[in-house]
Amino acid sequence: MTPRDTQAATFDAIIVGAGISGIHQLYRLRELGMSARVFEAGSNVGGTWYWNRYPGARFDSESWTYGYSFSEELLKEWDWKEHFSPQPDTLEYLNLVADKFDLRRDMQFDSRVTAAHWNDAATQWTVTLESGAQASARFLFTAIGILSAPTLPRIAGVDAFRGPAYHTGRWPHTPVDFTGKRVGVIGTGATAIQAIPEIAKQARQLTVFQRRPNWAAPLHNSKIGKAEMQAIKTRYPEIYARCSETPGWFIHEPDPRKTLEVPPAEREAYWEKRYAEPGFGIWMANFSDILVDEKANAAISDFIARKIRQRVKDPKVADKLIPKDHGFGTRRVPLESGYFEAYNRDNVLLVDVNDTPIEAITPRGIKTSDTEHEFDMLIYATGYDGVTGAFDRIDFRGPGGVRLKEVWADGPRTYLGQLAEGFPNLLMVLGPHTARGNIPRAVEHSVEWQTGLLRFMREHHYTRVETRPERVAEWTQMVIAAAQRLLSWNVDSWQNGVNRNIDGHTVRRVLGYNGNGKQYRIKTREVAEGGYREFQFR
Ligand code: NAP
Repeated sequence: MTPRDTQAATFDAIIVGAGISGIHQLYRLRELGMSARVFEAGSNVGGTWYWNRYPGARFDSESWTYGYSFSEELLKEWDWKEHFSPQPDTLEYLNLVADKFDLRRDMQFDSRVTAAHWNDAATQWTVTLESGAQASARFLFTAIGILSAPTLPRIAGVDAFRGPAYHTGRWPHTPVDFTGKRVGVIGTGATAIQAIPEIAKQARQLTVFQRRPNWAAPLHNSKIGKAEMQAIKTRYPEIYARCSETPGWFIHEPDPRKTLEVPPAEREAYWEKRYAEPGFGIWMANFSDILVDEKANAAISDFIARKIRQRVKDPKVADKLIPKDHGFGTRRVPLESGYFEAYNRDNVLLVDVNDTPIEAITPRGIKTSDTEHEFDMLIYATGYDGVTGAFDRIDFRGPGGVRLKEVWADGPRTYLGQLAEGFPNLLMVLGPHTARGNIPRAVEHSVEWQTGLLRFMREHHYTRVETRPERVAEWTQMVIAAAQRLLSWNVDSWQNGVNRNIDGHTVRRVLGYNGNGKQYRIKTREVAEGGYREFQFR
Protein backbone atom coordinates (compact mmCIF):
# COMPACT_ATOMS: atom_id res chain seq x y z
CA MET A 1 0.00 0.00 0.00
CA THR A 2 1.41 3.38 -0.95
CA PRO A 3 1.01 6.39 1.37
CA ARG A 4 -1.69 7.67 -1.00
CA ASP A 5 -3.72 4.46 -0.58
CA THR A 6 -3.44 4.85 3.16
CA GLN A 7 -5.08 8.27 3.06
CA ALA A 8 -8.04 8.11 5.40
CA ALA A 9 -7.75 4.30 5.61
CA THR A 10 -9.45 2.92 8.71
CA PHE A 11 -8.46 -0.20 10.59
CA ASP A 12 -9.52 -1.86 13.82
CA ALA A 13 -5.99 -1.38 15.08
CA ILE A 14 -2.78 0.38 14.12
CA ILE A 15 0.56 -0.83 15.39
CA VAL A 16 3.57 1.47 15.36
CA GLY A 17 6.71 -0.60 14.81
CA ALA A 18 7.53 -3.93 13.14
CA GLY A 19 10.12 -5.17 15.61
CA ILE A 20 9.74 -8.05 18.04
CA SER A 21 6.71 -6.38 19.62
CA GLY A 22 4.89 -5.33 16.47
CA ILE A 23 5.34 -8.72 14.79
CA HIS A 24 3.82 -10.57 17.72
CA GLN A 25 1.03 -8.04 18.26
CA LEU A 26 -0.02 -8.26 14.61
CA TYR A 27 -0.08 -12.05 14.77
CA ARG A 28 -2.49 -11.94 17.73
CA LEU A 29 -4.72 -9.23 16.25
CA ARG A 30 -5.09 -11.33 13.12
CA GLU A 31 -6.20 -14.24 15.27
CA LEU A 32 -8.85 -12.00 16.82
CA GLY A 33 -10.08 -11.29 13.30
CA MET A 34 -9.20 -7.61 13.57
CA SER A 35 -8.00 -5.55 10.65
CA ALA A 36 -4.63 -4.10 11.48
CA ARG A 37 -1.93 -2.04 9.88
CA VAL A 38 1.67 -1.82 11.04
CA PHE A 39 3.59 1.36 10.24
CA GLU A 40 7.34 0.91 10.38
CA ALA A 41 10.00 3.58 9.91
CA GLY A 42 12.56 1.06 8.62
CA SER A 43 12.45 -0.60 5.22
CA ASN A 44 11.82 -4.03 6.68
CA VAL A 45 10.94 -5.95 9.86
CA GLY A 46 13.27 -6.32 12.82
CA GLY A 47 13.28 -3.09 14.87
CA THR A 48 16.39 -3.16 17.06
CA TRP A 49 17.84 -5.96 14.92
CA TYR A 50 17.09 -4.09 11.72
CA TRP A 51 18.90 -0.92 12.82
CA ASN A 52 21.77 -2.25 14.96
CA ARG A 53 24.07 -3.85 12.38
CA TYR A 54 27.32 -2.75 13.96
CA PRO A 55 30.14 -5.31 14.21
CA GLY A 56 29.76 -7.60 17.20
CA ALA A 57 26.03 -6.91 17.73
CA ARG A 58 24.47 -9.94 19.34
CA PHE A 59 22.14 -11.09 22.15
CA ASP A 60 23.03 -10.98 25.77
CA SER A 61 20.03 -13.22 26.50
CA GLU A 62 20.48 -16.91 25.75
CA SER A 63 19.14 -17.38 22.20
CA TRP A 64 16.91 -20.28 23.27
CA THR A 65 15.15 -18.01 25.78
CA TYR A 66 14.75 -15.26 23.21
CA GLY A 67 12.53 -16.65 20.45
CA TYR A 68 8.74 -16.43 20.33
CA SER A 69 7.03 -19.23 22.19
CA PHE A 70 3.58 -18.72 20.63
CA SER A 71 4.02 -21.22 17.81
CA GLU A 72 5.07 -24.84 18.32
CA GLU A 73 5.73 -25.11 14.63
CA LEU A 74 8.08 -22.13 14.70
CA LEU A 75 9.92 -23.52 17.70
CA LYS A 76 10.44 -26.81 15.86
CA GLU A 77 11.47 -25.16 12.62
CA TRP A 78 14.06 -22.65 13.81
CA ASP A 79 17.57 -23.63 14.86
CA TRP A 80 19.65 -21.11 16.81
CA LYS A 81 23.24 -21.39 15.65
CA GLU A 82 24.90 -19.76 18.65
CA HIS A 83 24.04 -19.51 22.33
CA PHE A 84 24.00 -15.71 21.98
CA SER A 85 22.75 -15.05 18.50
CA PRO A 86 24.57 -12.55 16.28
CA GLN A 87 22.47 -9.77 14.72
CA PRO A 88 22.33 -11.23 11.16
CA ASP A 89 20.89 -14.53 12.43
CA THR A 90 18.32 -12.75 14.60
CA LEU A 91 17.23 -10.59 11.71
CA GLU A 92 16.91 -13.73 9.59
CA TYR A 93 14.73 -15.26 12.32
CA LEU A 94 12.41 -12.25 12.45
CA ASN A 95 12.13 -12.25 8.66
CA LEU A 96 11.26 -15.92 8.77
CA VAL A 97 8.48 -15.22 11.30
CA ALA A 98 7.10 -12.42 9.14
CA ASP A 99 7.10 -14.67 6.06
CA LYS A 100 5.85 -17.80 7.76
CA PHE A 101 2.75 -16.05 9.10
CA ASP A 102 2.36 -13.85 6.03
CA LEU A 103 2.54 -10.74 8.20
CA ARG A 104 4.06 -8.40 5.65
CA ARG A 105 0.78 -7.85 3.81
CA ASP A 106 -0.40 -5.79 6.79
CA MET A 107 2.87 -3.91 7.20
CA GLN A 108 3.84 -0.66 5.59
CA PHE A 109 7.57 0.09 5.63
CA ASP A 110 9.43 3.40 5.23
CA SER A 111 6.51 4.92 7.12
CA ARG A 112 7.54 6.89 10.17
CA VAL A 113 4.64 7.90 12.39
CA THR A 114 5.01 11.52 13.45
CA ALA A 115 1.69 12.15 15.21
CA ALA A 116 -1.21 10.27 16.78
CA HIS A 117 -4.30 12.22 17.77
CA TRP A 118 -7.36 10.91 19.59
CA ASN A 119 -10.79 11.74 18.24
CA ASP A 120 -13.22 11.45 21.13
CA ALA A 121 -16.41 11.64 19.07
CA ALA A 122 -15.28 8.88 16.73
CA THR A 123 -13.56 6.85 19.48
CA GLN A 124 -10.51 6.44 17.34
CA TRP A 125 -6.90 7.40 16.84
CA THR A 126 -5.65 9.09 13.71
CA VAL A 127 -1.98 8.67 12.96
CA THR A 128 -0.01 10.85 10.60
CA LEU A 129 3.05 9.63 8.74
CA GLU A 130 6.09 11.65 7.78
CA SER A 131 4.72 11.64 4.21
CA GLY A 132 1.59 13.42 5.44
CA ALA A 133 -0.62 10.36 4.85
CA GLN A 134 -3.07 9.50 7.61
CA ALA A 135 -4.85 6.40 8.86
CA SER A 136 -7.30 5.81 11.69
CA ALA A 137 -8.09 2.97 14.04
CA ARG A 138 -10.01 2.32 17.24
CA PHE A 139 -6.95 0.92 18.97
CA LEU A 140 -3.40 2.15 18.74
CA PHE A 141 -0.53 -0.09 19.81
CA THR A 142 2.90 1.34 20.43
CA ALA A 143 5.52 -1.27 19.61
CA ILE A 144 8.31 1.29 19.40
CA GLY A 145 10.94 -0.29 21.62
CA ILE A 146 12.82 1.14 24.58
CA LEU A 147 16.09 1.90 22.77
CA SER A 148 15.03 3.18 19.39
CA ALA A 149 15.68 6.93 19.59
CA PRO A 150 19.46 7.26 19.02
CA THR A 151 21.25 10.33 20.30
CA LEU A 152 24.39 11.97 18.96
CA PRO A 153 26.83 13.55 21.38
CA ARG A 154 26.36 17.20 22.14
CA ILE A 155 29.80 18.21 20.88
CA ALA A 156 30.61 21.24 18.72
CA GLY A 157 30.97 20.34 15.04
CA VAL A 158 29.27 16.97 15.30
CA ASP A 159 28.50 17.14 11.55
CA ALA A 160 31.89 18.57 10.58
CA PHE A 161 33.81 15.32 10.07
CA ARG A 162 34.53 14.82 6.37
CA GLY A 163 34.87 11.02 6.45
CA PRO A 164 32.14 8.48 7.11
CA ALA A 165 30.54 8.80 10.57
CA TYR A 166 27.95 6.34 11.88
CA HIS A 167 25.78 6.03 14.95
CA THR A 168 25.78 2.35 15.88
CA GLY A 169 21.98 2.33 15.90
CA ARG A 170 21.85 3.61 12.31
CA TRP A 171 24.52 1.38 10.85
CA PRO A 172 24.87 1.04 7.03
CA HIS A 173 23.33 -2.00 5.34
CA THR A 174 26.45 -2.68 3.32
CA PRO A 175 29.56 -4.06 5.09
CA VAL A 176 31.87 -1.44 6.61
CA ASP A 177 35.52 -2.26 6.01
CA PHE A 178 37.90 -1.00 8.68
CA THR A 179 41.02 -2.45 7.06
CA GLY A 180 43.88 0.00 7.17
CA LYS A 181 41.63 2.69 8.68
CA ARG A 182 42.10 4.98 11.64
CA VAL A 183 38.85 4.72 13.56
CA GLY A 184 37.55 6.81 16.46
CA VAL A 185 34.78 5.50 18.74
CA ILE A 186 32.94 7.73 21.19
CA GLY A 187 31.23 5.83 24.03
CA THR A 188 31.91 2.78 26.15
CA GLY A 189 28.39 1.42 26.77
CA ALA A 190 27.16 -2.09 25.94
CA THR A 191 27.17 -1.29 22.22
CA ALA A 192 30.75 -0.02 22.11
CA ILE A 193 31.85 -2.92 24.30
CA GLN A 194 30.56 -5.35 21.66
CA ALA A 195 31.92 -3.37 18.70
CA ILE A 196 35.41 -2.41 19.94
CA PRO A 197 37.02 -5.91 19.94
CA GLU A 198 35.70 -6.56 16.42
CA ILE A 199 36.84 -3.22 14.99
CA ALA A 200 40.22 -3.58 16.72
CA LYS A 201 40.88 -6.80 14.78
CA GLN A 202 40.66 -4.94 11.45
CA ALA A 203 41.49 -1.28 11.96
CA ARG A 204 44.98 0.16 11.60
CA GLN A 205 44.38 2.31 14.67
CA LEU A 206 41.37 2.39 16.98
CA THR A 207 40.98 5.22 19.48
CA VAL A 208 38.25 4.92 22.11
CA PHE A 209 36.95 8.05 23.81
CA GLN A 210 35.66 7.13 27.25
CA ARG A 211 33.67 9.40 29.57
CA ARG A 212 32.61 6.79 32.14
CA PRO A 213 33.70 3.15 32.10
CA ASN A 214 31.13 0.39 32.56
CA TRP A 215 31.37 -2.81 34.53
CA ALA A 216 31.41 -5.58 31.95
CA ALA A 217 31.65 -9.37 32.28
CA PRO A 218 32.40 -12.14 29.78
CA LEU A 219 29.62 -13.42 27.53
CA HIS A 220 31.26 -16.80 26.81
CA ASN A 221 29.36 -17.32 23.58
CA SER A 222 29.64 -20.63 21.71
CA LYS A 223 28.10 -22.43 18.73
CA ILE A 224 25.09 -24.71 19.11
CA GLY A 225 25.50 -28.02 17.33
CA LYS A 226 22.61 -29.91 15.68
CA ALA A 227 22.28 -32.45 18.50
CA GLU A 228 22.43 -29.76 21.16
CA MET A 229 19.72 -27.78 19.38
CA GLN A 230 17.54 -30.88 19.20
CA ALA A 231 17.97 -31.33 22.94
CA ILE A 232 17.11 -27.67 23.57
CA LYS A 233 13.92 -28.09 21.55
CA THR A 234 12.73 -30.88 23.80
CA ARG A 235 13.29 -28.60 26.79
CA TYR A 236 11.45 -25.51 25.47
CA PRO A 237 8.40 -25.90 27.75
CA GLU A 238 10.69 -26.17 30.76
CA ILE A 239 12.87 -23.24 29.60
CA TYR A 240 9.94 -20.87 29.05
CA ALA A 241 8.31 -21.95 32.31
CA ARG A 242 11.51 -21.15 34.19
CA CYS A 243 11.89 -17.75 32.54
CA SER A 244 8.36 -16.86 33.59
CA GLU A 245 9.26 -17.58 37.21
CA THR A 246 12.51 -15.60 37.53
CA PRO A 247 12.62 -11.93 38.60
CA GLY A 248 14.13 -10.71 35.30
CA TRP A 249 12.50 -13.35 33.01
CA PHE A 250 15.96 -14.63 32.12
CA ILE A 251 17.01 -18.22 32.68
CA HIS A 252 19.07 -17.01 35.66
CA GLU A 253 17.71 -16.85 39.19
CA PRO A 254 19.32 -15.02 42.15
CA ASP A 255 21.03 -16.98 44.90
CA PRO A 256 18.92 -16.29 48.01
CA ARG A 257 22.00 -16.01 50.26
CA LYS A 258 23.30 -12.64 51.40
CA THR A 259 26.82 -11.83 50.17
CA LEU A 260 28.54 -11.17 53.47
CA GLU A 261 26.94 -14.18 55.16
CA VAL A 262 28.81 -16.44 52.77
CA PRO A 263 32.39 -17.19 53.94
CA PRO A 264 34.92 -15.23 51.80
CA ALA A 265 36.55 -18.29 50.21
CA GLU A 266 33.18 -19.78 49.28
CA ARG A 267 32.01 -16.42 47.97
CA GLU A 268 35.11 -16.07 45.82
CA ALA A 269 34.67 -19.58 44.42
CA TYR A 270 31.03 -18.84 43.64
CA TRP A 271 31.95 -15.67 41.77
CA GLU A 272 34.74 -17.44 39.89
CA LYS A 273 32.23 -20.03 38.73
CA ARG A 274 29.69 -17.40 37.67
CA TYR A 275 32.36 -15.33 35.89
CA ALA A 276 33.38 -18.40 33.89
CA GLU A 277 29.80 -19.23 32.87
CA PRO A 278 27.96 -17.91 29.80
CA GLY A 279 25.50 -15.07 30.07
CA PHE A 280 24.08 -12.93 32.82
CA GLY A 281 24.64 -15.37 35.71
CA ILE A 282 27.25 -13.08 37.29
CA TRP A 283 24.59 -10.37 37.48
CA MET A 284 21.25 -12.19 37.68
CA ALA A 285 22.23 -15.35 39.54
CA ASN A 286 24.38 -13.54 42.06
CA PHE A 287 23.68 -13.18 45.78
CA SER A 288 20.31 -11.61 46.43
CA ASP A 289 21.58 -8.38 47.98
CA ILE A 290 24.23 -7.17 45.52
CA LEU A 291 21.92 -4.56 44.00
CA VAL A 292 20.51 -3.21 47.27
CA ASP A 293 23.29 -3.44 49.85
CA GLU A 294 26.29 -1.16 49.50
CA LYS A 295 28.76 -3.47 51.23
CA ALA A 296 27.63 -6.47 49.19
CA ASN A 297 27.88 -4.40 46.05
CA ALA A 298 31.35 -3.18 46.98
CA ALA A 299 32.51 -6.78 47.42
CA ILE A 300 31.32 -7.95 43.99
CA SER A 301 32.62 -4.73 42.42
CA ASP A 302 36.02 -5.46 43.94
CA PHE A 303 35.93 -8.98 42.47
CA ILE A 304 35.15 -7.68 38.98
CA ALA A 305 37.80 -4.93 39.31
CA ARG A 306 40.40 -7.59 40.06
CA LYS A 307 39.34 -9.47 36.94
CA ILE A 308 39.82 -6.33 34.84
CA ARG A 309 43.28 -5.81 36.34
CA GLN A 310 44.19 -9.41 35.51
CA ARG A 311 43.03 -9.06 31.92
CA VAL A 312 44.46 -5.64 31.02
CA LYS A 313 48.27 -5.57 30.86
CA ASP A 314 48.86 -1.86 31.47
CA PRO A 315 47.81 -1.10 35.07
CA LYS A 316 47.09 2.55 34.21
CA VAL A 317 44.73 1.52 31.41
CA ALA A 318 43.14 -1.11 33.65
CA ASP A 319 42.52 1.53 36.27
CA LYS A 320 40.80 3.75 33.74
CA LEU A 321 38.53 0.89 32.70
CA ILE A 322 37.32 0.31 36.26
CA PRO A 323 34.23 2.36 37.18
CA LYS A 324 34.62 4.50 40.29
CA ASP A 325 31.28 6.30 40.29
CA HIS A 326 28.94 3.28 40.47
CA GLY A 327 28.98 -0.33 41.58
CA PHE A 328 28.72 -3.50 39.54
CA GLY A 329 25.23 -4.18 38.20
CA THR A 330 23.80 -0.76 38.95
CA ARG A 331 23.75 -0.02 35.23
CA ARG A 332 22.81 -2.70 32.70
CA VAL A 333 25.88 -4.93 32.57
CA PRO A 334 27.44 -5.19 29.11
CA LEU A 335 28.52 -8.73 28.30
CA GLU A 336 31.75 -8.78 26.35
CA SER A 337 33.89 -10.99 24.17
CA GLY A 338 37.51 -9.93 24.52
CA TYR A 339 36.73 -6.29 25.33
CA PHE A 340 39.39 -5.83 27.97
CA GLU A 341 42.02 -7.71 25.95
CA ALA A 342 41.39 -5.31 23.05
CA TYR A 343 43.25 -2.68 25.10
CA ASN A 344 46.34 -4.92 25.15
CA ARG A 345 46.70 -4.48 21.41
CA ASP A 346 49.21 -2.02 20.02
CA ASN A 347 46.63 -0.51 17.68
CA VAL A 348 44.12 0.42 20.41
CA LEU A 349 44.31 3.61 22.44
CA LEU A 350 42.03 4.62 25.30
CA VAL A 351 41.44 8.34 25.73
CA ASP A 352 39.82 9.40 29.00
CA VAL A 353 37.86 12.53 28.14
CA ASN A 354 37.87 13.53 31.79
CA ASP A 355 41.64 14.08 31.48
CA THR A 356 41.56 15.56 27.99
CA PRO A 357 38.01 16.72 27.20
CA ILE A 358 36.68 16.63 23.66
CA GLU A 359 36.48 20.21 22.41
CA ALA A 360 35.14 19.64 18.94
CA ILE A 361 34.61 17.25 16.07
CA THR A 362 36.69 18.63 13.22
CA PRO A 363 36.78 17.78 9.50
CA ARG A 364 39.82 15.61 10.25
CA GLY A 365 38.83 13.96 13.51
CA ILE A 366 38.37 14.78 17.17
CA LYS A 367 40.03 17.70 18.91
CA THR A 368 40.69 17.16 22.58
CA SER A 369 42.22 19.66 24.97
CA ASP A 370 45.74 18.37 24.21
CA THR A 371 45.72 17.30 20.56
CA GLU A 372 43.76 16.66 17.39
CA HIS A 373 43.20 12.94 16.75
CA GLU A 374 42.94 12.30 13.01
CA PHE A 375 40.59 9.60 11.73
CA ASP A 376 39.30 8.00 8.55
CA MET A 377 36.04 7.02 10.22
CA LEU A 378 34.06 8.03 13.31
CA ILE A 379 31.66 5.88 15.25
CA TYR A 380 29.12 7.29 17.66
CA ALA A 381 28.27 4.57 20.19
CA THR A 382 26.58 7.25 22.22
CA GLY A 383 23.32 5.53 23.08
CA TYR A 384 19.68 6.44 23.14
CA ASP A 385 16.98 8.60 24.59
CA GLY A 386 15.79 5.54 26.50
CA VAL A 387 12.23 4.31 27.02
CA THR A 388 10.29 7.58 26.62
CA GLY A 389 12.46 8.93 23.77
CA ALA A 390 10.53 7.10 21.05
CA PHE A 391 7.25 8.36 22.57
CA ASP A 392 8.56 11.93 22.68
CA ARG A 393 9.37 11.77 18.97
CA ILE A 394 5.67 11.19 18.15
CA ASP A 395 3.14 13.93 18.84
CA PHE A 396 0.63 11.89 20.88
CA ARG A 397 -2.47 13.88 21.81
CA GLY A 398 -5.29 12.51 23.90
CA PRO A 399 -8.77 13.89 24.63
CA GLY A 400 -8.82 17.69 24.59
CA GLY A 401 -5.50 17.77 22.72
CA VAL A 402 -3.49 16.88 25.85
CA ARG A 403 0.11 16.03 24.90
CA LEU A 404 1.62 12.84 26.23
CA LYS A 405 5.06 14.42 26.35
CA GLU A 406 3.75 17.07 28.75
CA VAL A 407 1.86 14.61 30.93
CA TRP A 408 5.05 12.57 31.21
CA ALA A 409 7.39 15.53 31.73
CA ASP A 410 8.30 14.34 35.25
CA GLY A 411 8.02 10.67 34.39
CA PRO A 412 5.51 8.28 32.85
CA ARG A 413 2.07 7.78 34.38
CA THR A 414 0.54 4.44 33.53
CA TYR A 415 -1.39 1.55 34.95
CA LEU A 416 0.72 -1.63 34.89
CA GLY A 417 2.75 0.05 32.16
CA GLN A 418 0.13 -1.21 29.71
CA LEU A 419 -1.99 1.94 29.31
CA ALA A 420 -1.00 5.58 29.76
CA GLU A 421 -3.14 7.74 32.03
CA GLY A 422 -5.65 9.85 30.10
CA PHE A 423 -4.99 8.23 26.70
CA PRO A 424 -7.87 5.87 25.84
CA ASN A 425 -7.27 2.81 23.67
CA LEU A 426 -3.53 3.46 23.56
CA LEU A 427 -1.91 0.13 24.37
CA MET A 428 1.82 0.06 24.97
CA VAL A 429 3.81 -3.07 24.22
CA LEU A 430 6.87 -2.91 26.45
CA GLY A 431 5.80 0.54 27.59
CA PRO A 432 7.36 2.44 30.49
CA HIS A 433 6.65 0.98 33.95
CA THR A 434 6.18 -2.59 32.68
CA ALA A 435 8.47 -5.42 33.73
CA ARG A 436 11.25 -5.94 31.16
CA GLY A 437 14.57 -7.78 31.68
CA ASN A 438 14.65 -10.47 29.02
CA ILE A 439 12.93 -8.35 26.36
CA PRO A 440 11.07 -10.90 24.21
CA ARG A 441 9.64 -12.59 27.28
CA ALA A 442 8.39 -9.19 28.45
CA VAL A 443 7.02 -8.43 24.98
CA GLU A 444 5.23 -11.74 24.91
CA HIS A 445 3.65 -11.10 28.29
CA SER A 446 2.51 -7.64 27.24
CA VAL A 447 1.05 -8.83 23.92
CA GLU A 448 -0.80 -11.74 25.53
CA TRP A 449 -2.18 -9.54 28.31
CA GLN A 450 -3.37 -6.89 25.87
CA THR A 451 -4.90 -9.54 23.61
CA GLY A 452 -6.85 -10.77 26.64
CA LEU A 453 -8.05 -7.22 27.28
CA LEU A 454 -9.27 -6.85 23.68
CA ARG A 455 -11.06 -10.19 23.87
CA PHE A 456 -12.77 -9.06 27.08
CA MET A 457 -13.84 -5.79 25.46
CA ARG A 458 -15.26 -7.59 22.47
CA GLU A 459 -17.23 -9.99 24.68
CA HIS A 460 -18.70 -7.04 26.58
CA HIS A 461 -19.22 -4.83 23.52
CA TYR A 462 -16.92 -2.15 24.89
CA THR A 463 -15.21 0.18 22.46
CA ARG A 464 -13.17 2.31 24.81
CA VAL A 465 -10.82 1.51 27.68
CA GLU A 466 -8.91 3.89 29.89
CA THR A 467 -7.12 3.96 33.19
CA ARG A 468 -8.57 5.06 36.54
CA PRO A 469 -6.67 7.96 38.12
CA GLU A 470 -6.47 6.33 41.56
CA ARG A 471 -5.00 3.16 40.10
CA VAL A 472 -2.45 5.11 38.08
CA ALA A 473 -1.41 7.01 41.21
CA GLU A 474 -1.05 3.73 43.12
CA TRP A 475 0.95 2.01 40.37
CA THR A 476 3.18 5.01 39.66
CA GLN A 477 4.03 5.45 43.35
CA MET A 478 4.75 1.76 43.76
CA VAL A 479 7.02 1.70 40.71
CA ILE A 480 8.91 4.77 41.91
CA ALA A 481 9.33 3.37 45.42
CA ALA A 482 10.60 0.04 44.05
CA ALA A 483 13.19 1.79 41.86
CA GLN A 484 14.38 4.06 44.63
CA ARG A 485 15.16 1.10 46.89
CA LEU A 486 17.86 -0.04 44.48
CA LEU A 487 21.45 1.21 44.37
CA SER A 488 20.91 1.85 40.66
CA TRP A 489 18.69 4.79 41.54
CA ASN A 490 21.82 6.72 42.55
CA VAL A 491 23.45 6.23 39.18
CA ASP A 492 22.92 8.21 35.99
CA SER A 493 22.00 6.04 33.01
CA TRP A 494 19.45 5.79 30.22
CA GLN A 495 17.49 3.51 32.53
CA ASN A 496 16.97 6.44 34.89
CA GLY A 497 16.19 8.80 32.03
CA VAL A 498 19.50 10.66 32.13
CA ASN A 499 21.06 11.58 28.81
CA ARG A 500 23.21 14.69 28.81
CA ASN A 501 22.92 14.97 25.05
CA ILE A 502 19.26 16.01 25.38
CA ASP A 503 17.95 19.21 26.93
CA GLY A 504 16.24 18.65 30.26
CA HIS A 505 17.30 14.99 30.59
CA THR A 506 19.63 15.54 33.52
CA VAL A 507 17.09 14.73 36.24
CA ARG A 508 16.53 11.07 37.08
CA ARG A 509 13.10 9.63 36.29
CA VAL A 510 11.82 6.14 36.97
CA LEU A 511 11.16 4.58 33.57
CA GLY A 512 10.90 0.89 34.34
CA TYR A 513 9.20 -1.47 36.76
CA ASN A 514 12.03 -2.59 39.02
CA GLY A 515 10.04 -5.07 41.04
CA ASN A 516 10.04 -8.81 40.60
CA GLY A 517 8.87 -10.04 37.18
CA LYS A 518 7.07 -12.95 38.78
CA GLN A 519 5.08 -10.60 41.02
CA TYR A 520 4.26 -8.49 37.98
CA ARG A 521 2.95 -11.55 36.20
CA ILE A 522 0.76 -12.40 39.21
CA LYS A 523 -0.56 -8.83 39.49
CA THR A 524 -1.47 -8.54 35.82
CA ARG A 525 -3.11 -11.97 35.90
CA GLU A 526 -5.21 -10.97 38.90
CA VAL A 527 -6.38 -7.84 37.11
CA ALA A 528 -7.40 -9.91 34.07
CA GLU A 529 -9.08 -12.64 36.09
CA GLY A 530 -10.93 -10.03 38.14
CA GLY A 531 -12.56 -8.65 34.97
CA TYR A 532 -10.25 -5.64 34.51
CA ARG A 533 -12.16 -3.68 37.18
CA GLU A 534 -9.14 -1.43 37.56
CA PHE A 535 -9.97 0.10 34.16
CA GLN A 536 -12.92 2.13 32.93
CA PHE A 537 -14.85 0.91 29.89
CA ARG A 538 -17.52 2.35 27.64
P1 NAP B 1 24.80 3.62 26.57
O1 NAP B 1 24.92 2.47 27.45
O2 NAP B 1 23.92 4.74 26.95
O3 NAP B 1 26.26 4.14 26.27
C1 NAP B 1 26.50 5.33 25.60
C2 NAP B 1 27.95 5.68 25.77
O4 NAP B 1 28.23 6.89 25.09
C3 NAP B 1 28.33 5.92 27.22
O5 NAP B 1 29.60 5.39 27.44
C4 NAP B 1 28.31 7.43 27.33
O6 NAP B 1 29.08 7.93 28.38
C5 NAP B 1 28.88 7.80 25.98
N1 NAP B 1 28.56 9.16 25.59
C6 NAP B 1 27.36 9.68 25.30
N2 NAP B 1 27.47 10.98 25.00
C7 NAP B 1 28.77 11.30 25.12
C8 NAP B 1 29.49 12.49 24.95
N3 NAP B 1 28.87 13.62 24.60
N4 NAP B 1 30.82 12.45 25.16
C9 NAP B 1 31.44 11.32 25.51
N5 NAP B 1 30.81 10.15 25.68
C10 NAP B 1 29.47 10.13 25.49
O7 NAP B 1 24.30 3.17 25.09
P2 NAP B 1 24.54 1.79 24.36
O8 NAP B 1 25.93 1.33 24.54
O9 NAP B 1 24.02 1.92 22.99
O10 NAP B 1 23.65 0.77 25.18
C11 NAP B 1 22.31 1.09 25.53
C12 NAP B 1 21.61 -0.16 25.99
O11 NAP B 1 21.32 -0.98 24.87
C13 NAP B 1 22.37 -1.06 26.91
O12 NAP B 1 22.37 -0.63 28.23
C14 NAP B 1 21.63 -2.37 26.74
O13 NAP B 1 20.45 -2.40 27.48
C15 NAP B 1 21.26 -2.32 25.27
N6 NAP B 1 22.23 -3.10 24.48
C16 NAP B 1 22.10 -4.45 24.52
C17 NAP B 1 22.98 -5.22 23.84
C18 NAP B 1 22.86 -6.71 23.86
O14 NAP B 1 23.81 -7.38 24.04
N7 NAP B 1 21.69 -7.26 23.69
C19 NAP B 1 24.01 -4.64 23.12
C20 NAP B 1 24.11 -3.26 23.08
C21 NAP B 1 23.22 -2.49 23.78
P3 NAP B 1 28.46 8.10 29.86
O15 NAP B 1 28.35 6.74 30.41
O16 NAP B 1 29.41 8.96 30.56
O17 NAP B 1 27.11 8.74 29.67
